[in-house]
Amino acid sequence: MKMDQEVALVTGASRGLGRAIALELGSLGATVIGTATSEKGAEAISAGLAEAGVKGVGMVLNVTDAENIAAVIKEIGERFGAPTVLVNNAGITRDNLMMRMKDDEWESIIDTNLTSAYRVIKACLRAMMKAKHGRIINISSVVGATGNPGQANYAAAKAGLVGLTKSLARELGSRGITVNAVAPGFIDTDMTRELPEASRTALLDQIPLGQLGQPEDIAAAVAFLASPAGGYISGETLHVNGGMHM
Ligand code: NAD
Repeated sequence: MKMDQEVALVTGASRGLGRAIALELGSLGATVIGTATSEKGAEAISAGLAEAGVKGVGMVLNVTDAENIAAVIKEIGERFGAPTVLVNNAGITRDNLMMRMKDDEWESIIDTNLTSAYRVIKACLRAMMKAKHGRIINISSVVGATGNPGQANYAAAKAGLVGLTKSLARELGSRGITVNAVAPGFIDTDMTRELPEASRTALLDQIPLGQLGQPEDIAAAVAFLASPAGGYISGETLHVNGGMHM
């Protein structure tokens, strides 16, 4: 299969986009390590991968904890070989209007959605450079490109991922590593199910294709960039949003 030789690390794979991405990469033959924030979540990932006939396991990882990241990357290296594909997917929202935004709401979003990518990439990079092969995919958001009232923190983090992606694409291309972002639009997951009905309807009105995306739509885009077919693409942000932003 296309990705038999790859070891893919997908952060935040217990549900939503991360889960779909882990299953898609696994279906192409990659060994997949999907991470969750709890032991129970990690076990559920292991069970889901096994059920789908995918090689790999779930592991516990908190992307805000550098020590935890180092330990997990070490363990992956020992058990499966160092990750050759990294999907920085873990993310949260803490929406508020700027006038009411608390420092903690700003900082936690930057930490979990942007600094996390810096941390995990750094932990994976040495081995990718040594192997002269790697695929890094950062999950941004349409909101990073358009902005969104009430999401200044989230939009700043997601736009930050695009700048990180482009800089690393320039830095690491000569080392055989591609770095790209995927920017989902409005996808049907727990994150968007939290939105009030009125916001969901207003958002749907902005989507030419007239429906929410499914996690599998994002997984397909990530798999394309991670697979040999995407090998000549770097520094790009692939928007997957039903035409919501173009
Ligand atoms: P979700 O809330 O369903 O899943 C988020 C995942 O991140 C979960 O597995 C959660 O455990 C994990 N996570 C949260 N904090 C973590 C931490 N500190 N350490 C490790 N893992 C942590 O969300 P989703 O909709 O599947 O979103 C996945 C990614 O896609 C996020 O980065 C999100 O910002 C982005 N995104 C989603 C949409 C959408 O419409 N759903 C749109 C644009 C971008």
